[in-house]
Amino acid sequence: MTRSFTNRVFRFAPSSNGYLHLGHAYSALLNFDMARAAGGRFLLRIEDIDIERCQSEFEQAIYEDLGWLGLAWETPVRRQFEHFSEYASALAKLSAQGLTYPCFCSRGEIMLAVTGRTGWPRDPDGSPLYPGICKHLSREEKQRRISAGRRAALRIDMEAAIAKAGRGLAWREMGHSAQTREVAAEPSLWGDTTLSRKDIPASYHIAVVVDDALQGVTDVVRGEDLFLATSLHRLLQALLDLPAPTYRHHALLRDASGQKLSKSSRAKSLRALRQDGVSPAALQERLSSVPILAGGP
Ligand code: GLU
Repeated sequence: MTRSFTNRVFRFAPSSNGYLHLGHAYSALLNFDMARAAGGRFLLRIEDIDIERCQSEFEQAIYEDLGWLGLAWETPVRRQFEHFSEYASALAKLSAQGLTYPCFCSRGEIMLAVTGRTGWPRDPDGSPLYPGICKHLSREEKQRRISAGRRAALRIDMEAAIAKAGRGLAWREMGHSAQTREVAAEPSLWGDTTLSRKDIPASYHIAVVVDDALQGVTDVVRGEDLFLATSLHRLLQALLDLPAPTYRHHALLRDASGQKLSKSSRAKSLRALRQDGVSPAALQERLSSVPILAGGP
């Protein structure tokens, strides 16, 4: 049989802030299988910008666990930690367009400003939308605070960004049957979200958009918990003039009580399953019989 090769590029991008669990195995295998079926490439990316929580021990465990599962990926592996200068360039490009502003607020100040305002909207991650405290600081005031050594996060000016990108922003979403549909992006859900933090010079959102573009990723296959983040990613791609991949947001694995598996809910790790004597074949068999494979979103 002749195999048709394409230029499609898939990636699995775990954060090295804990051990991988069954949900990661599902996502990694889905990417790997889709890449193989398309005659495309499969990349692994370590998302380790969160300097406080990411550890090299977890990174090593990712390599071990994925190798044990039978996956192979291209090397060298991109580690976000080594690319802060590229994220800084993207942020500078947005700032040069007048689409960002520094924010000196603490979390406490923001909470105080929104407390008592019933029905104050929250972003898809559950944080209150930024109430705009630092948005209209004068140039002199910003300078004064910076000179006084106050650290600032960088926020997107969402109103200006949407005006700049124009209406009709959408992405291609692939369903289970490989049909694609257009999804209208709704970046305003995120308000003036942060693009860099006081302690970390890039947010997940800016890093992922820059990385996917620099790595030539054509297909982003990831959990549906990131579906709403794609609106923001699509906006950043448009503003930075980056290509838009096709997305597929797959359903998440849940435990018996319906809770999604997560590192924070202490889902059993792949290495614990391995220590229990589970084989990669048994694990793949188990994943192929869970309902998420039968009907993606
Ligand atoms: N690093 C993210 C996570 O571990 C995934 C990001 C992505 O696939 O875009 O949940």
